[in-house]
Amino acid sequence: FLISVRLNGRSHVSHSLSTSFPARRSFATTISSTMATKPAFRHILDLSKDEKCAFLSSFDSVLSDCDGVVWHFTGPIPGVDKALQLLRADGKKLAFISNNGMRTMDEYRKKFRTLDVEVQQEDIVHPALTTVHYLKSIDMRDAVYCIGTEVFKDYLRQAGFVVLDGPKERFPDNNRAANQVRVYSEYFERHERDPIVGAVVVDIDVNLSLQQLMKAKCYLERSPDCVFIVGATDYVIPLDASMDVIGPGYFIDILERSTGRSALVLGKPGKTLAQVVREKFEITSPKRVLFIGDMLPQDMGFGTRCGFQKLLMLSGGTSKEALFEHDNADQLPNYYADSFADFIELYNERVPNEE
Ligand SMILES: [Mg+2]
Repeated sequence: FLISVRLNGRSHVSHSLSTSFPARRSFATTISSTMATKPAFRHILDLSKDEKCAFLSSFDSVLSDCDGVVWHFTGPIPGVDKALQLLRADGKKLAFISNNGMRTMDEYRKKFRTLDVEVQQEDIVHPALTTVHYLKSIDMRDAVYCIGTEVFKDYLRQAGFVVLDGPKERFPDNNRAANQVRVYSEYFERHERDPIVGAVVVDIDVNLSLQQLMKAKCYLERSPDCVFIVGATDYVIPLDASMDVIGPGYFIDILERSTGRSALVLGKPGKTLAQVVREKFEITSPKRVLFIGDMLPQDMGFGTRCGFQKLLMLSGGTSKEALFEHDNADQLPNYYADSFADFIELYNERVPNEE
């Protein structure tokens, strides 16, 4: 199955925040002196008191990822509820951009409600709804072939699109060579009754098969007008400290390489999503937005693309070691923190300063 267990689990995922500070500080000092060309990023709790205040006043909105930052797949992240409430009480506008289209909007809102944070549907960017928005914007009337979860496909169906999926039957693998050719040609043949496919959409699908990839390839090659859209492009989906799921990124690579087509990315860090987010939230001063996430290519890459300030949380898919070893400057943060709980400490410290 798709889950691969990492032998060297992420012991770095810190559950004991106070004990991790000394190690973090010494590590940061050593590294920053040896990597002068890299952009400087600092732990938000290592800022001076004045810098902490300046940081908290430097943004009006927080756009945040969800999995690995607001919660884990396997359970809550301590302190997130308090931190989000403090940010909101300080007048920060909160919105969320997830690459996870496996969860319905209702499920997202319920999860936020367990944190005592009321979040409206329009404040959550969901890859399936972004796809619906995009397909409507280009007036898509033809069928949509979708590799994705039932949740994702249901959003397309609810929006009125004809959704094709599958096939679920296996290729026969015990025939003689001549029969194999016949089986494949029947598979790729276009029949009169078949609807025209105007878009191929690929997102997370835990039951993905070679048959589906070949269907997608065949539709993309049949017509250059067939739009190629992808949601999440993650290569790895971290479930917890010891489990990673293989993400759709690898399979999107297979389709791009085998067809010579480039996908339109409607998940983070896609350029098209950046446009959608700018318009949706009417962002005019991107530097006044703090983007928070746990993945370097998806979250920090997206933050860079949008011109936001960027904060990496070490509570999810990126270890401190991986952050300091990463050499793609566009995917590095301006700040990092152990988790959202660090905001509680920031706000605690700010109060006496404002006497
Ligand atoms: Mg995440």
